[in-house]
Amino acid sequence: RRARELAAAHAPAHTADGTRIEVFANLGSVADAAAAVSAGAEGCGLLRTEFLFLERETAPSEEEQRETYSAIAATLGERPLIVRTLDIGGDKPVPYLPMDGEENPALGLRGVRLTLARPDLMRVQLRAILRAVPAAQCRIMLPMVADLGDYRPVRALLDEMRAELGMAEAVPLGVMIETPAAALLAGQIAREADFLSIGTNDLTQYTLAADRGNAAVSQRIDAMHPAVLRLVREVGRGAAEAGRWAGMCGGLASDPLAAPILIGLGITELSATPAQVPAVKAAVARFDMAACAALAARACDAQSADAVRALAMEASA
Ligand code: PEP
Ligand code: MG
Repeated sequence: RRARELAAAHAPAHTADGTRIEVFANLGSVADAAAAVSAGAEGCGLLRTEFLFLERETAPSEEEQRETYSAIAATLGERPLIVRTLDIGGDKPVPYLPMDGEENPALGLRGVRLTLARPDLMRVQLRAILRAVPAAQCRIMLPMVADLGDYRPVRALLDEMRAELGMAEAVPLGVMIETPAAALLAGQIAREADFLSIGTNDLTQYTLAADRGNAAVSQRIDAMHPAVLRLVREVGRGAAEAGRWAGMCGGLASDPLAAPILIGLGITELSATPAQVPAVKAAVARFDMAACAALAARACDAQSADAVRALAMEASA
């Protein structure tokens, strides 16, 4: 029985009626990659690259980045690896990035906004990723995008780096959906971006206007909120209409209770913490698509996050 459980934990995830749902893991180090593989992750849906850039005097060189990305790619075997470009902002002190004291760092020069302002950093990182991760395994993703104006310059830069390196293979470039603007424009973004992945940590903060780091409002922060779920629905629809896939790499993807709702909203890839991968896979297998769609519709009509949780609990009981 133990052997059968282990085999199931490492098999690709499907709903009860056979729809394929990829269950990936979020990584922030080489050690995480090993943990993800042993937990049965089918790939990496979010590599947070900030760990390479923080707590140091100078930016990591192309070679240093290449070595680290390469070690992570190798640990994942042939599983897909989605590398997120640098997501840093004025809330973290970085000596080589002179960021003026911002009054609202969450609304400031962070994520793709910073790297668009510092194309030197973006070039080095893109080159390191392209050199480190085999093209068949490699996907790149941009944080904090608001609209296509944030996407197109990076697309151009990536094509330029590929040409510089003499790479013929295309490398998918996707967008994190973590601003309400990007969620509402998901359809048009998906016509140019290769995939979408929802970052519910930031999307929830911006939708509910509640600082994710402020303990005084932490009670309000629940990605199961119907307002957030309606944005997820927009993303699922927009991606499907454009023929792209939409995934989720924010904290909500680690919650097994949310899995049937997210699947019902059109999410086909869930990237969880390595430790939560088995529980999310098990939750995916428990529901068929009709049950997911019905639950998702009820969740979007609910009046609070607590009401959504009660519905999800009842469905999972
Ligand atoms: C998110 O915002 O949901 C996300 C995955 O990115 P981070 O938590 O790194 O901001
Ligand atoms: Mg984020």
